[in-house]
Amino acid sequence: MRVGIGYDAHKLVAGRPLILGGVNVPFEKGLHGHSDADVLIHAIIDALLGAAGLGDIGGMFPDTDAAYKGVSSLILLAEAGRALISNGFSIVNIDSVIIAERPRLAPHIQDMRRNISLALDISVAAVGVKATTEEGMGFTGSGLGMSAQAVASVE
Ligand code: MG
Repeated sequence: MRVGIGYDAHKLVAGRPLILGGVNVPFEKGLHGHSDADVLIHAIIDALLGAAGLGDIGGMFPDTDAAYKGVSSLILLAEAGRALISNGFSIVNIDSVIIAERPRLAPHIQDMRRNISLALDISVAAVGVKATTEEGMGFTGSGLGMSAQAVASVE
């Protein structure tokens, strides 16, 4: 049994869709990045790769590679999941938290869990997604950006 941790943060900017856990969340801003900037999925990918000793998201999907420009991070997640399987690992569970002041994410959590479980071909019960605010403090509290943390266990 092995565990991994992942963390990511992205800036919030106007003129971008807000994609979290593969869900297009209605909001006046979106996350800035080379891919769809799905901060939750990026943290989960790093947790999975870390648990399996396979490096990190930047090594597997370089942001200098035009192939990943604007790509859905669910595609990257599925590819990371396949890399784990081909290295002899299976995913036990994932837990994660999105840190964002706004918008309210509770209505979208189940869709995020389902998207992640489908991309990795694991049960929804093995995917935890939570959301919290930082009560107005720091870069998430001021609405400058969002962050996410994830842990994964594999065997
Ligand atoms: Mg990222």
